[in-house]
Amino acid sequence: MTPGYLLHKLWVGARLRCPHCERGRTFSGLLKVNQTCSECGLRFECEDGESVGGMYINLALAELTTMGGFFLIHSLYQPPLLPHLVFWIVYNITFVVLFYRHARSTWMSVSYLTSGQQADLPPR
Ligand SMILES: [Zn+2]
Repeated sequence: MTPGYLLHKLWVGARLRCPHCERGRTFSGLLKVNQTCSECGLRFECEDGESVGGMYINLALAELTTMGGFFLIHSLYQPPLLPHLVFWIVYNITFVVLFYRHARSTWMSVSYLTSGQQADLPPR
């Protein structure tokens, strides 16, 4: 596996697509995760609690962008602290809600790349 292949599969997951065939959808509704891929049969979450990895991705990106944005804006414009904090708290909550599906689907790609599920499926 090359780094380009790994990044491609993570990107496929972030786009809510199956990491194996890249056609099937990982979500069937706003929050409903498909158990298997409709195109190739890949099981998206093999063990209970696997979705916690997606939460780690989601929170890590939310905190990184929040902290980076906070310090960048603060150093450039020195806004008053209270409205600045309120903005970034709202940003953080909004980011976590909007990015939830993408983070969870990206984690499905991580799980796919590290679990050896490819061997059980027919080649694409
Ligand atoms: Zn698939």
